[in-house]
Amino acid sequence: MAQQVEKVSRTGTLGEPGLPVQDRGNQQVSGFKARPETSSIQVQMLFPTPEIVQQYYVPLAYTAARTCYSEKLPQAIWDDVMAGKVAEEKMRKLLGSVIESGHGTVIEHISFTFAISGVSRSLTHQLVRHRMGVSFDQQSQRYVKYREPQYTVPASVGDDEELLSRFSDAMEDNLELYSDLLQEGVPAEDARFLFPNGLQTNLVMTVNLRQLIHMSGLRLCTMAQWEIRKLFALIKAEVRRVSPFLSSFLVIKCVSLGYCDETRNEDEHCKVRPHKNTVFAVFDAHRKTQRTARPQGPTSAPADPGVAPAQLAAGNSSP
Ligand SMILES: Cc1cc2nc3c(=O)[nH]c(=O)nc-3n(C[C@H](O)[C@H](O)[C@H](O)COP(=O)(O)OP(=O)(O)OC[C@H]3O[C@@H](n4cnc5c(N)ncnc54)[C@H](O)[C@@H]3O)c2cc1C
Repeated sequence: MAQQVEKVSRTGTLGEPGLPVQDRGNQQVSGFKARPETSSIQVQMLFPTPEIVQQYYVPLAYTAARTCYSEKLPQAIWDDVMAGKVAEEKMRKLLGSVIESGHGTVIEHISFTFAISGVSRSLTHQLVRHRMGVSFDQQSQRYVKYREPQYTVPASVGDDEELLSRFSDAMEDNLELYSDLLQEGVPAEDARFLFPNGLQTNLVMTVNLRQLIHMSGLRLCTMAQWEIRKLFALIKAEVRRVSPFLSSFLVIKCVSLGYCDETRNEDEHCKVRPHKNTVFAVFDAHRKTQRTARPQGPTSAPADPGVAPAQLAAGNSSP
């Protein structure tokens, strides 16, 4: 049975403009001009409210952490915190040190729910690969019959008039055929086989703070794909709005590691942190100097603790 589907004109949304050339994949684009922000991505923290975050989140994680190191009952620790007997600074200090030490379960008690809209399917293919401590509900292409499908145009295409025109024509043809298929009675779950990666979608994501730190570490990196990087910048801004303290943990992985481990940054064009090759070259040189300076003899300690720099660089410190 033919279905009536209204045909409407669609608009493409231009993607992230103004990124340096190296941030736009492997493409070397000359004459790139920064343009005003036109990305359509929107992020809103749905839950909790700022009041809940401010009143309960640091106390909750603090109570979890203190329970591990105290004879007191967790209820008593919580009551003390709620009665204002524990200074905010003390709670923050403990949380900072447990996070740094890797005691990550403490911050799994903190979670955030975000509404995310106007992102491309190519972004969500990447996003939903995260499995631990995160839940997604995404707009279904089986059940939704799109009347006004929107798509994202990357800046590398949108900045070139001719490419933009060809790109838009291809999208329009594609989406027009989708609309025709629906009108001919093809189910949405089949018509969607035509959809391009640039098609926009919406989802709700709930994530605990431990996993959000992990995801932000990967996705805020200057080597990450521009759109997902933009999404995580917006997520961080939303967390900052309710808690500058908690948002301060959402940093590029190299900031926590102390060095960059990206192969594509061996030339150190991104200067946020030195590349691990540089760090371990300095470490090797330092160790050689120590060996030369150390007095030789049967009583001297072994120079090599059993961990090769290459092992350290690979993150494997087991002898
Ligand atoms: C720059 C970049 C490039 C990428 N390129 C590709 C690509 O070309 N092709 C591709 O398929 N994917 C690619 N990915 C996706 C990547 O392989 C992961 O699937 C994705 O980043 C999810 O991260 P995660 O594995 O840390 O999983 P998460 O679910 O975020 O897991 C968090 C952590 O939990 C632990 N964990 C989770 N599940 C397990 C498990 N089953 N066993 C043991 N430990 C576990 C790990 O320590 C993991 O880091 C890329 C990701 C990035 C950031």
